Amino acid sequence: MKTFCLLSAFALVGTCATPKYTTKIQNLKDSIEIADSASIVNYSNTITAEELSTHLYKFASKEFKGREVGEEGAKKAADFIKSYYQNEGIPSPFGDANYFQIIPAEYFSKEINVSENVLAFIKGTTKPEEIVIISAHLDHLGISKNGDIYYGADDDGSGTVALMEMAQAFNKAKEEGRGPKRSILFLHLTGEEIGKRGSEYYTSHPVFPLKNTLVDLNIDMIGRIDEIHKNNKNYIYLIGSDRLSKELHFISEKINKVFYNIDLDYRYNTEREKNRYYTRSDHYNFANKDIPVIFYFNGEHVDYHQPTDTPDKINYQLLEKRTKLIFATAWQIANQNHRLVIDKKNEYLN
Ligand SMILES: [Zn+2]
Repeated sequence: MKTFCLLSAFALVGTCATPKYTTKIQNLKDSIEIADSASIVNYSNTITAEELSTHLYKFASKEFKGREVGEEGAKKAADFIKSYYQNEGIPSPFGDANYFQIIPAEYFSKEINVSENVLAFIKGTTKPEEIVIISAHLDHLGISKNGDIYYGADDDGSGTVALMEMAQAFNKAKEEGRGPKRSILFLHLTGEEIGKRGSEYYTSHPVFPLKNTLVDLNIDMIGRIDEIHKNNKNYIYLIGSDRLSKELHFISEKINKVFYNIDLDYRYNTEREKNRYYTRSDHYNFANKDIPVIFYFNGEHVDYHQPTDTPDKINYQLLEKRTKLIFATAWQIANQNHRLVIDKKNEYLN
C-alpha cells in the first residue's frame, strides 16, 4: 500500500519532473494551512458510528423497497431525508419547506416516473456565494424479479447517512458561531443507478451557478471492505482528486495525514484503469463541467448490487472514520483563506 502511494505521488510530479515543477508543487503544498484544527476535531467528533448505524438500519430497511428511481420506495427515502433535515433545523437552499429538486418524468428516456434530488444547505458566513458540494445517491435497484429487496446499505446508504451526519456537524458549528465561511450543499441524488441522471439533471439545472461551485466530494459506497484490503481495513479509494486541481489533492492528503492516517489508495485513479470508476458515479457530471471532484469508494465486494448488501455487513467504525475524513476535507475547502483553485488558474503551477 505505502509503496503504491509513493509511486503514485511520484507519478504525479514525475510526468513533468523538472526541478522547477517540483519546486512549484512544494510551494503549493506549503501554501495549505489547516483552517481551525480545534474545530475540525471538535465537530468531527459529533459524527458517530452509533448515529450512522441508526440512520442506516432505517434507510436500508424493507420499508424503502430498494429505493428504485421514480417508485414509492425512493419517494419514501426522499421524504425520510427531508424529515431528518427539518428535524435538525438544517434548511433547504430554496428557503422554505421544499427540499426537492423535481426531475420531471419527461426528462428520463425510459418509462420512469417523476423523481427528486434532495438538497440541504448551510449558508456560508463570509463567502456564501461560493459552494462546496457533498453528494451521494439516494436511489438503488428496487426489487428483483424474485421479489428480493435490494437494500443497498453500502450502495449508497453509507454515503447517504454520511451526508446526514456531516450536515449535523456543520450545523452545530454554525449554531455555535463557527459556521463555514463558504456554503455547503448536501446533495442527495436520484437516478444514479440508471445512468447518473440526478447529477446530470443537477449540473444542467444547477441551483447555484457552476462557476461558483468549487468542488464535488462524492461518496458512493464507504461502509465496507473489499477483498484486496481484508487484512488492512484502514483504507479508502480516492479517485479524481488530482485531475483538475492539484491543490485539492494536496488538501485531501494533508487533512488525512494530520487527523486520520487512513491509507488513501489511488490504484483506481490511474489513466486507462480498466474499471473506469472515474466515469461511473455522480461526480463525473461535475468533472465534465470543469469542477474538481473527489470520489470516495470502498471498492466492490461480493454483495455489490445483490440483495445481500445489508446494514449488518457495514463496518460502522470505519464508516465513521471515513466520514470524518470527508467532513474535515470539506471543512478545509469551505474555511481556508483563499478559494480552491483549478490547475489552469493556479499561480504556483503556471
Ligand atoms: Zn452507487
